[in-house]
Amino acid sequence: MPTQPLGPIKILYIEDDPSSRRLVQRLLEAEGFHVTVAEDGLSGLELARQVRPALILTDINISGMTGHEVATRFKEMPETRHVPVIALTAATLATDRDRALVAGCDGYITKPIDVDALPRIIHKFLAGAREKVSEDVKVQRLEEYRNELGARLEKTVAELQKANAELRRMDKMKKDFVILAGHELRTPTTLIYGYTSLLKMEMQQRGSADDHLNDVIDRITGATRRLNEVVDAVINVSLIDSEQLELVFKPVDLAAMTQAIVADLQPIVKQRNLQLVVGDLSRVPTLSADPNYLRRAITNLLDNAIKYTPDGGTVSLDAVPEEEAIHLVVADTGIGIDRAEQERIFDKFYVLEDTDFHSTHRNNFLGGGFGLGLAVAHGIIRAHGGRIWVESEGLDATRLPGSRFHILLPLTPPPPRQPDSK
Ligand code: ADP
Repeated sequence: MPTQPLGPIKILYIEDDPSSRRLVQRLLEAEGFHVTVAEDGLSGLELARQVRPALILTDINISGMTGHEVATRFKEMPETRHVPVIALTAATLATDRDRALVAGCDGYITKPIDVDALPRIIHKFLAGAREKVSEDVKVQRLEEYRNELGARLEKTVAELQKANAELRRMDKMKKDFVILAGHELRTPTTLIYGYTSLLKMEMQQRGSADDHLNDVIDRITGATRRLNEVVDAVINVSLIDSEQLELVFKPVDLAAMTQAIVADLQPIVKQRNLQLVVGDLSRVPTLSADPNYLRRAITNLLDNAIKYTPDGGTVSLDAVPEEEAIHLVVADTGIGIDRAEQERIFDKFYVLEDTDFHSTHRNNFLGGGFGLGLAVAHGIIRAHGGRIWVESEGLDATRLPGSRFHILLPLTPPPPRQPDSK
């Protein structure tokens, strides 16, 4: 049995026509009821669970779920099973009434609304009145209703499948466009980078002492390198997203690879007065991996370790052999990472939200990034059949708890992916 509500009696009204909604709401509120309105069947179901009304009024011809379907659901839901559901509709035929009652309605009120009678009728249903249909009518109408539901289900599933296929097609087009646009951008930026590097070399060879010009060239080179990195990150993340990352597995000597990465980072490590400690990797066996992508993943972790560690701190890289795998750790003495964020940081476009923590130059402490570094590293390691995760006590720019990024990489590549059977 429904429990007696405290305060005004709650009524839920489902109606997609705004003027009817307003009229009925005003009318019933003037009678002292508390009226919640829903514009369609689905939100009506949701609101009913929250509001727990003592009575539900519903239009029958509403978009999405019909009033019949909503009434059927109300009679199934434990929260509303005993709540009277009254149809309020413009359809006036006797068969319309029977169909509504068979679907689960307890009463049937026709439009136009009789303003004087409506409150009285509502009170009648609240007091326990229920309309009924005879058994033989019920059997016949139920059969019709079942057929109607089957046909509606088929139509809805077909529409959803079509919409889903269209979304997939558009999503693929978008991803392909990003990859294509990235490749188109990379050609000129690589050229600019090449020519500015050449220019710098020539200036050096000619012994030019024009500091201003040298500085301008350095800035162009730096900006172009950064642009190339951004374009690469966008291409890589799009390839990962659309499962098009094609790895070319070769034997990789991790010790030699890390030496090369560390050599590249030396200028910035020096500039930031950091200690970059590399463990003894001589015991690490040769592994089968894509050297270009693996190098990108490890570089991204080291870039971050440098970026999130204040000047004077320590960044370390070590790797040990484990059963059929290599366990690589990049650790730092930086600001650390909030525990609640430690999974989300591997998502695309995740960036530290607190802009107080941001600086403008990317190599500075907390230099600006745009949240693709870890997503790319994650995608690359996953494509190698490996795992990547982080440990940190939390984010604290004063105490500097640091972070430890782990990569577990199998010595041999995973079996090739099965072609998509869909
Ligand atoms: P970003 O370009 O912002 O650095 P990443 O994908 O590389 O993007 O990293 C995502 C987020 O993870 C960063 O914004 C930062 O909040 C956090 N993060 C990554 N590495 C570290 C680290 N070594 N120390 C502290 N926070 C880190």
